[in-house]
Amino acid sequence: MSKILPAVLMAIAIASPPGASAQTPRPVDDARLRNAAKQSNEWLTYGFTPAETRYSPAQQINAANVARLGLAWSYDVGHGGGGQEATPLFSNGTLYGITNWSIAFAVDARTGKEKWRWDPEVNQEKVRPKICCGVVQRGVALYQGLVIAPTIDGRLIALEADTGRPVWESRVSYAQENYTITMAPRIAKGKVIIGVSGSELPVRGFFAAYDALTGKFAWRFYTVPGDPSKPFENPALKAAAETWSGDWWKLGGGGTVWDGMAYDPEADLIYVGTGNGGPWPEQLRKSKGKDNLYICSILAVKPETGELKWYFQPVPGDSWDFDSVQQLLLADLTINGRPRKVLMQANKDGFYYVIDRLTGQFISGIPFARITWAKGLDERTGRPFVNPEAHYATEPIQISPGPGGAHNWAPMSFNAATGLVYIPTSTVSSSNFAVDTEFIWKPNQSNLGVRRGPPPKDGGFAPPPPAKLDPPPAIGPEPPPEGQPRNVLVALDPVAKQIRWQTPGGGSIGGGTLTTAGNLVIQVIPDGHLVAYSADKGEKLLDLETGLHSGMGPPITYELDGKQYIALMGGVGLVVARNVEPGAPAPAATAQTVFPKLMTFELDGKPLP
Ligand code: CA
Repeated sequence: MSKILPAVLMAIAIASPPGASAQTPRPVDDARLRNAAKQSNEWLTYGFTPAETRYSPAQQINAANVARLGLAWSYDVGHGGGGQEATPLFSNGTLYGITNWSIAFAVDARTGKEKWRWDPEVNQEKVRPKICCGVVQRGVALYQGLVIAPTIDGRLIALEADTGRPVWESRVSYAQENYTITMAPRIAKGKVIIGVSGSELPVRGFFAAYDALTGKFAWRFYTVPGDPSKPFENPALKAAAETWSGDWWKLGGGGTVWDGMAYDPEADLIYVGTGNGGPWPEQLRKSKGKDNLYICSILAVKPETGELKWYFQPVPGDSWDFDSVQQLLLADLTINGRPRKVLMQANKDGFYYVIDRLTGQFISGIPFARITWAKGLDERTGRPFVNPEAHYATEPIQISPGPGGAHNWAPMSFNAATGLVYIPTSTVSSSNFAVDTEFIWKPNQSNLGVRRGPPPKDGGFAPPPPAKLDPPPAIGPEPPPEGQPRNVLVALDPVAKQIRWQTPGGGSIGGGTLTTAGNLVIQVIPDGHLVAYSADKGEKLLDLETGLHSGMGPPITYELDGKQYIALMGGVGLVVARNVEPGAPAPAATAQTVFPKLMTFELDGKPLP
């Protein structure tokens, strides 16, 4: 690798015209990741920076000219079979991505031509039943000439960024043990950090660290305690065991780590969000009234050891699938005249949390969508005042938000110039909850523990029963009137604790946002539209139909040869239902089938068909 790299990079450097923004011919290292926020010419990590702001200083494309955006080129990423939720990365003239079935690829950003493609050959038929919520993968990491790619069946694989040749492979988890991997790995201090998905199945959630250069296992942090008759892995889990009862460890516990992660090199802390408890209702975990640490929590751990420094649990004793894994966004804000280093999260549970990221101290939490599960938060601790009716039993009751969440994995972004965070939001989501009185825990299967109708033939989610009880009282901003779109983009001021503007389109799942110093918010809408708004006022400046229609991932931006581009992935292609009989024939493509793509856009580009 080291012999090939300099020659290739030199060729790129020579090919760049004079005066072009420097395509730094250096591999991604700790210093470049640390300074990523200042670089308009690259997109080096999932959230643009280790602080996960998705705020680029690029301003060639700006509020005055974004209406001229058109297609530069598009590349077919594969046959699909799930949404393309990945954030592509851009470095040294190359775009790197990963498909829903974990096929990593590199594309020459000047031409749109494939440089390499690497298929980990996941046993799709065996893994599909272990995937709770769609065959998806959210991204890769770049480090020291490597592309580090997760596989949905539980591996981490490092490939040479130039050639796609495998360098190392490490086993993180096994699909046979009901784990999958859907999140993008992150880099911190020479380590690659990854978590596992699947709290709907019987699993004990964890995240783990590996040496990024060799793949050597470094540490693992389980998010829920194991069998108390055996030694606890660390003091944090011994403490957590006090917050459980019964024989929870036989059920798994949940607390998987499948999306939000951030890193502050100065604080020397990695931040991680954890998922719901399993089964969903607390009484089926035999934990009524118990907090169940560290499910639905935000954890801060040391990169070298995985030692827990602090935790904050937005949803103690979760019963509503309020995974608290959503994007963790780090910013430095002045709050009540005092500079604060904060961590922010637009949680599934409908509250927007601002936390001191050095100590875990709660600063504020305001509703940004309709909430009925809680009547508010303790202003000192951030602990919710849960409505008693929300602790549902056997009679169905409607609770907001629903399991899709007020905000889910669709990335938000934070513009340091406007001071606003742009959140893809489902304003009035809900679901009906009732404990399944005939629940029998089953190994190797989904164990929700809530009443559901028969699963639909298309493999979608089984519907809950109609509500019998009156819903608890609602709090939160006034929702858009009946008949108006209830999936919106919310622009929220986290210091003033106010929504400044909101506009129809988006929703908690699918697509996402970036924001730029060109006073722009660029949003991908789940229906395949690429839209742009002025970041300060929310005026719509662009609305492009990409032709992809669904299965959309979030946008990125970068500069190449002095020119700014926008890129995104999207499209579902041919989906095989989760509950299809093993060995059943795969669906066939028709003239209407739209295959998933990586698309790039430029000013005065081609019109879309
Ligand atoms: Ca969940």
